[in-house]
Amino acid sequence: MPYTTPPRPLDVAALFPQLAPLARTATRLHPRPGSPTPHDSSVGGPLLWPANEPWPHCEAPHKQRRAKPLLSPDDVRAWRRHRRASEERRRLDPQSPWATPEELAAEKQILTGRPWPEGPIAMLPIAQLYLRDVPLLPRPAQSEADLLQVLWCPFDHPEHPKTALFWRSAATITKPLATPPEPSAVRFETYLPEPCLLTPETVTEYPHYLELSQELQEQLGDLGQWQAAAGPALDSSYQIAPQERYMDMLSTAPGWKIGGWSRWGLTDPIPRPCPECGRDTEPLLTIATTEWDSSDSWIPEEEQTNPTPLLPGTAPANFTMIDIASGYDLQLHTCPASPNHPHIELVQ
Ligand SMILES: [Zn+2]
Ligand SMILES: [Zn+2]
Repeated sequence: MPYTTPPRPLDVAALFPQLAPLARTATRLHPRPGSPTPHDSSVGGPLLWPANEPWPHCEAPHKQRRAKPLLSPDDVRAWRRHRRASEERRRLDPQSPWATPEELAAEKQILTGRPWPEGPIAMLPIAQLYLRDVPLLPRPAQSEADLLQVLWCPFDHPEHPKTALFWRSAATITKPLATPPEPSAVRFETYLPEPCLLTPETVTEYPHYLELSQELQEQLGDLGQWQAAAGPALDSSYQIAPQERYMDMLSTAPGWKIGGWSRWGLTDPIPRPCPECGRDTEPLLTIATTEWDSSDSWIPEEEQTNPTPLLPGTAPANFTMIDIASGYDLQLHTCPASPNHPHIELVQ
């Protein structure tokens, strides 16, 4: 099933022509729970990993800051399975129990926790993107690579998981690794992504309001200019702060995406120079907590009439079950000069 972002309510570059040259194409990934294989683009799915290449491990120190039972990836999967079973049971019969005796016994066992891991930690697959599914994947220059793989260490470094990126040519992987190692535990259950299939869709984005020139900020903050340019097409919302219409609906898309413009929310925009050569880095992958807010205009048309069932207790549109810093996103930026330069992780 395709996912279609509704047309933007206004063509903002027609209203404010200085925005036109700043347009960028982003690819919304629209992750939804499924059963991806190593040959699919996915979030949290199995990677097409060469059997003869060592699996990445995080060697950084993992200091124990406070005692809290840790769960293994299989513990988290069992927990989620029970929640889904409970939801389904109570949907069919509202009088049925929240948990069966078997589920309660298994959860009691899970809550005894796993020991804090010692030594290097096997990294977890976070995303795998084939160029055929995301043709605008900003791959390294002069590269034959057609597959991007993103993994992370499911512990805080210091405030969020530490990511690793791998570019490959899928055709060179003749013998894939069948059973990759897994970490013995994760710091939070929200650091284990639910396996999701992707339905990429391209959208046009413009920079965050605070990244625009002073002149453009003044234009977007002036209700009179909106009224003069849009005429009767302008509804009566956003009278007090018209620039918020731009921020909410017309600049950057929410959710998981490739490319486009950086999203800001936790801080004002800051420079993102490459740590190696100082060039400005560019957004590669945005790992998002939610795909939209409850009242958002970015909900795909297909889901406005036929909403995807959400798991109980999860925030709106938290399909991947990942949570970054209580509702924020982890944006990976890369250096256009070289894929060998270290990437930047930005929580916003
Ligand atoms: Zn680590
Ligand atoms: Zn660089």
